[in-house]
This record gives sequence, structure tokens and C-alpha cells, in this order.
Amino acid sequence: MASTSPLTITTFLSSDAGLNSVCALIQGSTDSVLVDVPFLLSDARNLVQMVRDSGTRLTTIFVTHGHPDHWFTLSLFAEEFPEAKMVAHPKVAEQIEGIREKKFKQWKPVFGDEIGEKLVGPTAMSEMFLRLEGRELPIIYVAVADSEEATLVWVPELETLIVGDLGSSDTHVYMAEHDAALRAEFLKSVYAMGDLSPKTIIPGHMDAGSSMDADYVIKWTADYLKKFEEIVSDNPTEEEYSRRAAEAWGEIPVAFAVPLNAAAALRGEYF
Ligand SMILES: [Zn+2]
Repeated sequence: MASTSPLTITTFLSSDAGLNSVCALIQGSTDSVLVDVPFLLSDARNLVQMVRDSGTRLTTIFVTHGHPDHWFTLSLFAEEFPEAKMVAHPKVAEQIEGIREKKFKQWKPVFGDEIGEKLVGPTAMSEMFLRLEGRELPIIYVAVADSEEATLVWVPELETLIVGDLGSSDTHVYMAEHDAALRAEFLKSVYAMGDLSPKTIIPGHMDAGSSMDADYVIKWTADYLKKFEEIVSDNPTEEEYSRRAAEAWGEIPVAFAVPLNAAAALRGEYF
């Protein structure tokens, strides 16, 4: 039976150290669903509090894609909300299982207590939607976003698309796993976010207070990708690249992506 009370979505923005990642709590009248969790535990504890303050029962945690800044603190949520299912598209769940140990070894020494003692991944979901109080919120599979194997969540009644790292708002865009062909696919996927005519797009990374207007997020992300191609097509040195990046975008969040993007595009050294 469909519920009649409207849904609301509350977003959570991680700290600068947590790479300004965005998580979204979709709330019904009694239940809620969380899309993505933070990279670092200090951010995750704040998000746990936000979920508790909502007064809703968290039934499901959904992970959009395999990058650590969207699932690394699942173990905390498993402790805090043992009744919530933690799920992802089968291809995303498989990818996370494949990188879980390697990513733990890579990031635990860097972030110490900000990373849990063990990492838990999501399980593969069998149906391509999230259930919330009688509603079915569709999951849309995207072969190439800023990673390969990504997914979006569509919330029809709010005309809102939750896009993980397919969209950014006023931050650098990470492209360090992509060659030119994958970057071109990424750009096509960015434009395809408009196919459902969303009014709001909740991006995977944003600056505090930045716009979630759908047209704005599509334009910011597409413009970033196009500007990037324009700069790298001149085959600059990496030093020259960072100078031109600073000129193009100024000081904006997710700056860690700048040298990594340059190394990938200019030297074929993928992160
Ligand atoms: Zn991300």
C-alpha cells in the first residue's frame, strides 16, 4: 500500500578531510533510507546522530559506487543500526569486495583512528529499487561515472536524482582512473542525468551551501570535464597543469584530485 505522507531528503556534507562527500537520508513518516556513508569515522558519527535525530527507523543503507569515500564507514553503521540492510548493485558490491583489503591497507596508515579496525562492504541487492514505506525508488545503473560501475537513485515524487560521483557542485571532479575514452563516456553519462528531467540533483561532492539545482550540477560537472580536456589537449607539464587548474577553478574542495587527474591524463599513471 502506498503511503500518502510526503518524503523528505536531508543531505549530510562530510568535512574537508572527508573529501566533502555527500550522503542523503530519504525520510518517510516512520522509516528512512540512507544513500552512501562517509569516508571518515568523525564524519560518520555526526551522520549517525543526524539519522537518530530524524526520529525515523533506518531500514536500508545503499552505496552508489565503489570509491572508499562512499562506503568506508559502513562498519560503524552496522554496529549502530544492526537492523538496517547494507546493499549495493551486484556489480558495485563485487567491486568493493575486490578492493576492500587493498584499500584498507592503503588508507589505514594515512588516517589511523579515522578508519575502522575492519571494513565491511555492502551485499548485492536482488531487486533494482529501494523500498521505502510502500514506494519503490528505482536504481539506475551507469557503466561509467568517475568510476566504472556506478548507480543513481531516482526519487520520482521529489523529482530528485541522487547521483554519487556522477555529479559535483563547485568542487574538483576526480578523473584519475580514466583514460581519454573513459572520460568521454563519463561526460556522456553526466548529460544523461538530465534524461529523467530531475529538478534536483544531489551530487556526490559539493561545497558547503552550493546548489543542488539539476541544471547547475549537470553544467558544473560537464563544464569541468570539458575544461579539463581543453587543458590536457595542450599537453602541459604537470606544473603547468596545476597552474592552469588554479586559474580555471580557483581554490575549491576535493583538491587532492588535481595532481592525480594530471598524472592519469598526462602520464597514464592511474590511481
Ligand atoms: Zn566520491
